[in-house]
Amino acid sequence: MNFISTRGKTPATGLGAAIAAGLAPDGGLYVPESLPKFAIDDFAGCQSLDQVGARLLAPFFAGDDLAGSLADICAEAFNFPVPLKPLPLVDTFVLELFHGPTAAFKDVGARFLAACMQRLRAGAATPLTILVATSGDTGAAVAAAFHRLPGLRVVILYPDGRVSPRQAHQLGCFGDNVTALRVAGSFDDCQAMVKQALNDGALQSRLPMSSANSISLGRLLPQMTYYAHAALQFRRAREQALNFVIPTGNLGNAMGAALTRAVGLPVGRIALATNANHVLQDFFDGGDYRPATSITTLANAMDVGAPSNFERLRWLYPDDGQLRASFSARATSDAGIRSTISQSRSRYGEVFCPHTATAVRTLEMLREGGETGAWAVVATAHPAKFEAIVEPLVGAPVPVPPALAELLSRPASAEPLAADYPALRDRLTEMDAA
Ligand SMILES: *Cc1c(COP(=O)(O)O)cnc(C)c1O
Repeated sequence: MNFISTRGKTPATGLGAAIAAGLAPDGGLYVPESLPKFAIDDFAGCQSLDQVGARLLAPFFAGDDLAGSLADICAEAFNFPVPLKPLPLVDTFVLELFHGPTAAFKDVGARFLAACMQRLRAGAATPLTILVATSGDTGAAVAAAFHRLPGLRVVILYPDGRVSPRQAHQLGCFGDNVTALRVAGSFDDCQAMVKQALNDGALQSRLPMSSANSISLGRLLPQMTYYAHAALQFRRAREQALNFVIPTGNLGNAMGAALTRAVGLPVGRIALATNANHVLQDFFDGGDYRPATSITTLANAMDVGAPSNFERLRWLYPDDGQLRASFSARATSDAGIRSTISQSRSRYGEVFCPHTATAVRTLEMLREGGETGAWAVVATAHPAKFEAIVEPLVGAPVPVPPALAELLSRPASAEPLAADYPALRDRLTEMDAA
């Protein structure tokens, strides 16, 4: 299988090269040249997440050097449960994606990318430095996934004082080949500095660098697996497709669901749940696509005004009418997030994180509109990651899951860094010398 750019000006590339590159050279996003088509019977005998992943992703890996390692990559990446649990309402489920090391769904993609990168870099003379700008969840997932992998280093930039104390602790608790830099600036400053470093040819030639952001194919493809796994499980039990409502920011997670449906798995409707950033609701309700500056909300990992994977949705559904018919989107305000979290224990017997709460609210709106099908709410993070928001609303402490507790029990430290590129360049140059 070859991969082409959504902008059509990049030669077709093999999977390994596309993963290593991240963004296509023409500025577009890599997409498969063609889509495989599966029948349900193709998954006969595939029960576990890693078995489903190895079968589902085989056509995308076909012909690449990584193909022979796919089963091992899946076994390494998908090593925690992704349960589909019933909620105490008719035909309503929750798909929990937060049982990995940093308690957010980004662990799935980050672990798969790390397993691929490790193999792509095997035997390289110089280590590869992965640069990550993060507003919280991404940096921790990438750090946990790449920690102590030979030939790979991670440098995380985060806005000092603008991530939650628990997020800051997670970013600074790894050490070894992971360096956390707390930048005296905003998330946008961090992103701009990373971009400049990646484009600094002189530095690149001495210190090979790559990124791990949500447009990477190495993060996108594995995000199909849990949708396929849950949909197959549901179909075997109930003979019907399962619908999903997905907390959405850059559309990476939702794109995983869309691809899973497109290759023939029994995924039904896909509803996109956003926070108050309403660019998707406007488009799917029939308006123009108008990317905007993001606004800050309680669901901060979804504070996105211009979803980067929208380009991939348009590639999958080139006709706007067809695209609008294939998804729906609803925005939920901070007030809606708060009231959903407050009522979650009495209504569902569960506590949801602020991101998951947007999906719960979106499904409630669909039900109020008469929707009766079987739906799974996708839970993207554990509520204990956002205890400062959640605990006052539910009026009780949220128990910390063991993996997160382990990280929080380690000592943590981060180095201060000025919010300008020369400071970052000097710090990276020091690493080169070390
Ligand atoms: C990153 C993130 C999202 C948004 O995912 P996208 O792939 O960017 O749409 C939602 N919830 C949580 C908890 C996240 O960390």
